[in-house]
Amino acid sequence: MKQLTVSQFVRKNILELQPYISFRDHNEFESPVLMDANESPFGEFNRYPDSTQKKLKNKIADLKELSPEQIAIGNGSDELIDLIIRIFCEPKKDAIMMMNPSFAMYAFYATINENKVIKMDLDENFEIIKENFLKISMENRPKIFFLCSPNNPTGNSVDDIEFYLQNFDGIVVVDEAYIEFSDKKSSLELLMKYPNLIVLQTFSKAWGKAGARVGIGYASKEIINLINTVKAPYNVNSLSQDLILKSIDQIDLFQQNVENILIERAWLDNELKKLQCVTKIFPTDANFFLVEFTNADQVHQKLLANEILTNKRAPAIPDCVRINIGTREENMKLIAVLNRV
Ligand code: PMP
Repeated sequence: MKQLTVSQFVRKNILELQPYISFRDHNEFESPVLMDANESPFGEFNRYPDSTQKKLKNKIADLKELSPEQIAIGNGSDELIDLIIRIFCEPKKDAIMMMNPSFAMYAFYATINENKVIKMDLDENFEIIKENFLKISMENRPKIFFLCSPNNPTGNSVDDIEFYLQNFDGIVVVDEAYIEFSDKKSSLELLMKYPNLIVLQTFSKAWGKAGARVGIGYASKEIINLINTVKAPYNVNSLSQDLILKSIDQIDLFQQNVENILIERAWLDNELKKLQCVTKIFPTDANFFLVEFTNADQVHQKLLANEILTNKRAPAIPDCVRINIGTREENMKLIAVLNRV
C-alpha cells in the first residue's frame, strides 16, 4: 500500500458523493420544535433516529480509546460488509478475495454486486498458506481481502496479520466478530499504521445483542467518511442505539457473560473429547466448536430429532458440524444426546 492513497481504490461515482446528514443534526438546539422531517408529533417512537449515531460513536470511542471519526455503525456488521464492497468494487469488473472456508456473507454480498469471489483454500489446519496468498492476490488483483480472525466456521485465528496488510494492494477487512472470546490481540492497534485496514466488530456475539443488529467498523477517517456517505441515513434504529448505549454502561455484565462462555467452552471441550463419535475437535478462539464426527450426518440428524439445532458444514468441510456454546444446561443436553449416537 505504502505511498498509495485509499481514494484510488474507491469507485469514482462514490468519491463524488457527500454523506447525508439530516438538517437537525447540523443544528443543535436544547429543545427545538421539530418540523423538518415530516414525522408525527405524537407517540413514543415518533422521531427518526440520530443519523450520525453520535452518542453511540462517542461511547464506543471512549471504550476503545479511539476517535469517533474512526467509527462507523452498521445494521449488524453484515451491512458494513455490503457497504464496503459497494464502495470499493466496481460491478462486473472488480473482485474480492476471502479465505476458504470462511464467513459466507462476503461472497453473498460480492455476488449481489456482481463481483468475482476469489476463494483462497486454507491448509489442513485451516491456516493461510502465505505463498498462495501472494500468488493469488498478484494474479487476480482483488480490491478487498476479507480476513476473518477468529475465523468462522473454523474457530482459529490468523497469525501475523501485518504480513497481509503489508502485502495486499487494496483494502484489508479484518473481521473480528469473535475477538472477545480470543486471547489474541485485536488489529485495532494497527489502524494508525495501515490506511488500508478496516476492522469489523459486532454487538451480536460476546455482547449478546444479535437481535439489535448493531455492528461496528473501525478505519481511517477517510474510509469512515465513505461508509457514512453510502449508508442508509437511518440505518440503525433508535431502540437499538439506546439498548447498546445501556449495555456498554453494564460492561461488568458483558465481561461476566464472556467469562461464563469461556468456562463453558473449556467444559464442553473436555466432554466432547470423551465421546466415541468425535474424531476431532478443532482448536477454537471463538464461541463455537468445529467438530469432526465419525458420521456427521447421523449426528446432525440425531441432534435435530432431539430439537438441538447445529450447523452442518458439508460439503465445504466434510464430516464436520459447527456447534456454538450454550448454557450449562444446554451443553449437558447436547452431550447427553451425543452419548446416545
Ligand atoms: N462476521 C462473522 C465472521 C460472523 O460470523 C457474523 C455472524 N455470523 C457476522 C460477521 C455478522 O454479524 P452481525 O450480526 O454483526 O451482522
